[in-house]
Amino acid sequence: MHEHASARQALETMIRGNDLEGLLRQAEIIHGHRCPFLALGVKAGRHAMAYLEQENTGMEEMVAIVECNNCFTDGIQVVTGCTFGNSALIFEDLGKTAVTVARRRDGAALRLAVRPDFREQMFARYPAVGPLYEKVVLQGRGTDEDRHRFQHLWQAVARRELQEVPLEEQFLIRNLTITLPPLARRFATVTCSRCGEGVMEPRVRVVEGQLVCLACAGEEHYVLTGRGIGCGRSAL
Ligand SMILES: [Zn+2]
Ligand SMILES: [Zn+2]
Repeated sequence: MHEHASARQALETMIRGNDLEGLLRQAEIIHGHRCPFLALGVKAGRHAMAYLEQENTGMEEMVAIVECNNCFTDGIQVVTGCTFGNSALIFEDLGKTAVTVARRRDGAALRLAVRPDFREQMFARYPAVGPLYEKVVLQGRGTDEDRHRFQHLWQAVARRELQEVPLEEQFLIRNLTITLPPLARRFATVTCSRCGEGVMEPRVRVVEGQLVCLACAGEEHYVLTGRGIGCGRSAL
């Protein structure tokens, strides 16, 4: 018996048992709300994990490559266990609601990309939602009551897309073998001569003979925001 059993056991059991509702509930803990694209991420992640039959303890046994940073990605992170923090989540800023989940030991992978006509099809399934989505989400208008009604309907859409609509109607799915980037590396920490904070070595610059972090050097660096990856400077 292990001294500390993996907290993911509960999730692995839900994956094997196809407990989509249980998985969505877990995803809501980090995502904060229930919505259709979170449900799609949960469903895609569950399908890929069941297909690849590899448990994940967060030690990079599995790798997930996502191509968007929206609700979908939170569903993927929770269900696959490949996260921003454990180095098993790769973000390719391609602007596609798609994921490729791969098994590190042999590169076996499954790719699921939301069908190009998915949104149109989804809104056609729920005629009451489209006008509210337009008003509340896209235009940022609408009364409190509109917003409340939208939230309510949106959650109902999420549940039905999760449970009732076939996966093949939502995603283009293919299996493939990919070459994964090497495992994450650990770097030495050095101290910035200006702010006194620790910083990993490859991110340090030498300014006037002193080691300085990118923020103190005022240097541009890659920043991931709601708009994707771009060049930016420290907000501090
Ligand atoms: Zn969401
Ligand atoms: Zn500094």
